[in-house]
Amino acid sequence: MIPQITMHKWREQAECRGTDPDLFFPPKTWTVEEQYVAERIAIHVCESCAVTDECLEYAIGNPHLVTEGVWGGHSDKQIQAMQRKRTRRGRKK
Ligand code: SF4
Repeated sequence: MIPQITMHKWREQAECRGTDPDLFFPPKTWTVEEQYVAERIAIHVCESCAVTDECLEYAIGNPHLVTEGVWGGHSDKQIQAMQRKRTRRGRKK
C-alpha cells in the first residue's frame, strides 16, 4: 500500500513525479526478481533527482508513514535500518 503523505513543497521537484508508482512501491504480487528490478530502476530515477536529501530525510523521520518503497535513492530495507538507528540514538538522549 502506498502511504498517504502530506504534500511538501520539495515534492514538486521530485524526479519521480509522473513515473509509474509501481516502480517505487512494487506490488507484493510481483516476483522477487520483478520487485528487485523495479527497485533498481527507481533508485536510478532518484540519482537524477534534485530533492534526494529532503526525500530521504522525510522517509527516515516518518517511520510511522514510511514503511516501504524507494525514497531518496534508498531501498525500504536501508531506510528501515536508518529509522531504527535514529530511534536508538533518540532513546539514548
Ligand atoms: S529522491 Fe527519488 S523517491 Fe524521492 S522525490 Fe526524488 S525521485 Fe522521488
